[in-house]
Amino acid sequence: MAPLRIAIIGAGPAGLTLARLLQVKGIPCTVYDLDANPHSRDQGGTVDLHRRGGQMVIEEAGLLEEFKKLARPEGEATKLVKYDGMVVIDENVQKVERTEEHKDRPEIDRLRLRQLLLGSLTEGNIVWGKKLLGVEKSKKVDGKFDLRFDGSVEEAFDIVVGADGAWSKVRPFLTDKNPFYSGITAIELWAMDVDIQHQWLSQYVGQGTMFMFDEGRAIICQRNGNNSIRTYAAVRQQETWLNDCGIDWSAPEAKTRLIEGYFADCADDLKRVILDSNDNLIPRPMYMLPVDIKWEPKAGVTLIGDAAHLMTPFAGVGVNIAMVDALDLSRAITSCVDDDKENIGAAMSAFEKEMFRRSQMFANKTWKNMQSHFSATGIDERAALIH
Ligand SMILES: Cc1cc2nc3c(=O)[nH]c(=O)nc-3n(C[C@H](O)[C@H](O)[C@H](O)COP(=O)(O)OP(=O)(O)OC[C@H]3O[C@@H](n4cnc5c(N)ncnc54)[C@H](O)[C@@H]3O)c2cc1C
Repeated sequence: MAPLRIAIIGAGPAGLTLARLLQVKGIPCTVYDLDANPHSRDQGGTVDLHRRGGQMVIEEAGLLEEFKKLARPEGEATKLVKYDGMVVIDENVQKVERTEEHKDRPEIDRLRLRQLLLGSLTEGNIVWGKKLLGVEKSKKVDGKFDLRFDGSVEEAFDIVVGADGAWSKVRPFLTDKNPFYSGITAIELWAMDVDIQHQWLSQYVGQGTMFMFDEGRAIICQRNGNNSIRTYAAVRQQETWLNDCGIDWSAPEAKTRLIEGYFADCADDLKRVILDSNDNLIPRPMYMLPVDIKWEPKAGVTLIGDAAHLMTPFAGVGVNIAMVDALDLSRAITSCVDDDKENIGAAMSAFEKEMFRRSQMFANKTWKNMQSHFSATGIDERAALIH
């Protein structure tokens, strides 16, 4: 019997993890990504891998020891600050007993996680510079699928996995549901070489993440492994706010306008966090898929990660559940290869059923966190969650 022809769209954490897990089982697949090469796009900040989430999957992928060398357990340190500057908790200077669920969540830079997964894959299994436009039923072979890329078509796949993130081009094959605006827009700012160039900021933020939550606003600063700090100044505003708030985000005075308009009554330290960052402000409206998203199974095509269940980052679970999706799907695919290829439909449908249950649970939690954190008691709610 010919091996299954498997395509994974997207070389993010979900797609690369699935490719690695299949490789460990000796199942060939091809990953397609729109990036021109692995270095063509900044991978952003840092993520934490949970013991029963990303870490469990990394272990299954045979990469736990390598992961431990790259991870930053000290990056777990959390500092919670009220809008008036009062420090509620600072794990950089005090020992706080965390709830079981929030223990053992070492941080890793996204770039390092990507390098770890990429380095574990056989060369040639990833095709860069392939932007998917859509999935179609094969006109030539019943039960197979063709991939329409920008400039080319790849034919006759048995299994197509959409791991292509928020704006998935595989998703429309399965459902007409689209991401919608969550109500929160963040302005991203960076400070580089902080131990030398921004010593005050470096000390104020500490080794991990500093959070300020308040009614309709937040400031979140996260240290990365490359000695940089990424800050999000976030506000609850309408979707058109970026354009109609009157701030020119590329102008030198954008930071002061942001502070005057939305953080004027905050403590000087919190304003300084914004002022000490560089002038390259990156607006990021946050989108999400419906909390209860589901679709009718279609044998051979499925989604994992953000493509399946995009949520805002306020429960910090996105990468973790993307990787758990990859683990579950790899098991479903392995069972078809081992036992019976005719079972692809049933195995993938069972996988999706469990993924829907899990994603709904985490999407609900994320939604509740977003509501409670962006409130006058937000920082206390955050403290109660983890300690
Ligand atoms: C500010 C912020 C902070 C976060 N913090 C955390 C955290 O601390 N912990 C956590 O667990 N999660 C966190 N998340 C969520 C996490 O980043 C995502 O859930 C995770 O990246 C999803 O992985 P993915 O592989 O599904 O999608 P992505 O990471 O989006 O990867 C998708 C891949 O598909 C490719 N692609 C897209 N479209 C196409 C196309 N048409 N054709 C071909 N390729 C395509 C892209 O180039 C990309 O490589 C955070 C998210 C944000 C926004």
